[in-house]
Amino acid sequence: MRLSYAVLGERQGEPFAEPFADIYYNPHDGAAESEHTFLHGNDLITRFATLGNAHFTIAETGFGTGLNCFLTAQRFLDLAPHGRLTYISAEKYPIHPRQLPALHRNFPAPTLREAFYRQNPGNHGGFHLIALHPRIDLLLLLGDAAEQYAALDARVDAWFLDGFAPAKNPDMWTDALWQHMARLSHAHTSAASFTAARQVRDGLAQAGFAVERIAGYGRKRHMIRARCIRPAPAAPQWHNRPPARPQDGPVAVIGAGIAGSATAHALARSGLDVHLYHDEHQFPPASAVPVAIPYLQPGLTDSAERRYQLTAWHYAQRFLHEWAREHPHTFIPCAIHRLPPNTRTAERHRQLYDEQLLDEQHWQLQDGILSDLTSGIVHLPALCETLVSAPHIRRYPRSVTGIAQSVDGWQIGGQAYRSVILCCGWHTTLIPETYARHALRPLRGQGTMLLGSAPQAVYCRDKTLIPLADGCYAGASYQPNDSDTAWRIADQQANLAFARQFAPDSHIRDDFTGIRAASRDYLPLVGGIADSAALTRDYARWRHHARLPIHAAPVYHPGLYLHAGLGSKGCTYAFLNAALLAACLHGAPLPLPRTLLPHLVPARFFIRTLKRGQV
Ligand code: SAM
Repeated sequence: MRLSYAVLGERQGEPFAEPFADIYYNPHDGAAESEHTFLHGNDLITRFATLGNAHFTIAETGFGTGLNCFLTAQRFLDLAPHGRLTYISAEKYPIHPRQLPALHRNFPAPTLREAFYRQNPGNHGGFHLIALHPRIDLLLLLGDAAEQYAALDARVDAWFLDGFAPAKNPDMWTDALWQHMARLSHAHTSAASFTAARQVRDGLAQAGFAVERIAGYGRKRHMIRARCIRPAPAAPQWHNRPPARPQDGPVAVIGAGIAGSATAHALARSGLDVHLYHDEHQFPPASAVPVAIPYLQPGLTDSAERRYQLTAWHYAQRFLHEWAREHPHTFIPCAIHRLPPNTRTAERHRQLYDEQLLDEQHWQLQDGILSDLTSGIVHLPALCETLVSAPHIRRYPRSVTGIAQSVDGWQIGGQAYRSVILCCGWHTTLIPETYARHALRPLRGQGTMLLGSAPQAVYCRDKTLIPLADGCYAGASYQPNDSDTAWRIADQQANLAFARQFAPDSHIRDDFTGIRAASRDYLPLVGGIADSAALTRDYARWRHHARLPIHAAPVYHPGLYLHAGLGSKGCTYAFLNAALLAACLHGAPLPLPRTLLPHLVPARFFIRTLKRGQV
């Protein structure tokens, strides 16, 4: 859902929130106020300087102009040359992207700001992971602070309680917010706020923080500094992520399709050494298809699938556009037109448009044709190749036939790993669990490369037509439970007929057949692989109490993760999944709402059979 933009006025040349009659920051010196209140209030100068190569998490209420964010990120870069920062910020009334550059005229960190402008999600609600720098991510949570923090899975080191004054904006400073702060905090978590209002001090104290009043900035007499003394972690759940383990030594990624390549890249970016195993000859990987697009096909009603798809799609768009800056041959900007095959789909397009899931800046609806004007064409083999070309990724072009468990990890051909990520598509023999193997199935697709004139844009109906330099690609067929790689004339004819509707002079060059891995519920399998023997033992009572929530964390195969089942949405899902896995390995904040985990973790297939009494 899209949010209302902030209604801005101006006081002394600085932004003023008209509906709240309040300022965003001190108009005399916002940066000095921010430094005093939030950086010193949380003792961040010392904490950054002594961080080493560890990860630090800040969570803020009220992103506003981003002053705190950019100032803190710049200080982090100066003081913590080897650390990593996730800056989380919740914002209910984002400032319109067009207004920001002028407001930022005196702000620090121009490079970080430019990265933000390029990736600014505008007013699309929900979780948006934004790479500001190779070592700094902004996780922008667009929506009400308490609601967004309720959905967050993170361990916060320092809180920035900004937001308009409690008297002017009582809706933000709520008990629910304090409770989620306590859930997300640990014994060394600090908090600071510009306000010293009693309601805030009492709320924090009741939630488990030791609160003190100290001198505020400038003419402000008091502000708050606090420390968490009673963290209140959430009750465990069956879909909790595995506990992060120290990652000494390399991590193994098996498979170099879009799932494996994106995962290897995300892990390398997060500071890990990656050993990437890939066997190009055993099966034709679906990711060898020459071109693809990041599909967005959200359902009409709100569901976990729709929320996941939107979060992943927004992230994929940001990721691909950013990647193309350095690697322009991997993602070529191009409009994508979706033609409705029938009136029902035309109606569906209209509903999606009216429902405000899409915005007019990027999308257009005309005569039932829904057009994504700012997407592009992924040149998949080139993308995968560049993703795995980082210096921290070493490639092993060999088939892995088995992984052996060792005392503290896994062995692959004599090499020890603390963590292994299986990204092997539908060929699943390495997965040690039947429930996960059975959740995946082959999904055959045959596409056709055609010579002739190249259309100006991508056209989708039941098939997709993608322009190439000397013609186009049309496809692909969609054949579940079919792993036959032999070429089929019927598929080729159907692809040709589709292409000729847009490029009548098309003639066949050759065909490509790939076998995608699809999951039985159309959502990917991403996360740790839980041990079914332990689940059978620990969750026995839920066989007979299917409706009761399972408040017990699962036992995992230590350090073993899965990233599979992307179906035909590899270019939409792989990047967010990869960021999710990197977060799991480091114990860093999850880039999507935790409410989506039950729909993504592989163990969901085991839990379903357990609750039906079938195990
Ligand atoms: N930290 C900001 C900066 O560096 O520019 C200034 C924050 S400004 C004082 C307060 C911000 O809180 C505004 O951007 C406002 O839209 C946001 N806000 C107000 N109520 C909110 C709520 N319930 N949830 C999330 N954000 C909220």
